[in-house]
Amino acid sequence: MEKKTLQERIFPEVTYFEILEERRKAWALATKLPRGGLLAYCVILVVVLAVAPPMAQFLLLSLPGVDEVPPVFNGVVVALIVVPAPMVTAWIFRRKVQRSLRQQLTERGRPICLECGYDLRGQTVSRCPECGTAFDEKLLKDAEAPPSMQDCADS
Ligand SMILES: [Zn+2]
Repeated sequence: MEKKTLQERIFPEVTYFEILEERRKAWALATKLPRGGLLAYCVILVVVLAVAPPMAQFLLLSLPGVDEVPPVFNGVVVALIVVPAPMVTAWIFRRKVQRSLRQQLTERGRPICLECGYDLRGQTVSRCPECGTAFDEKLLKDAEAPPSMQDCADS
């Protein structure tokens, strides 16, 4: 049994990209920040990084029996914010990321319901059996074709 990454747990769609390079590209496209998004992301991160260490220090020092903070403390607080920040951001915008991943999978011949993520292969009516969302009838024919990604993975 392979251990699932946090990314795979939150976005199971990524596991349908069987080629690692394709998965990486799809993820990059799905999490691409909109115009001005990078600036907003950086500003928010800088503000949080400016406020969090002194606050954490203040809270630590207010605990009974704590009268000094080790020098490494600020670094640890910064790391605890910076390292998970991209995944936290992806989680906040998870609906958008999920839709993009599902859209990309559908375009690659693996039809997935954009709304709920249901695997639409082998459907006979153009409506998701899971959530009832209508989808392009053209996908019914495409679903009959052998999945090309599977061929690559098997060889
Ligand atoms: Zn659905």
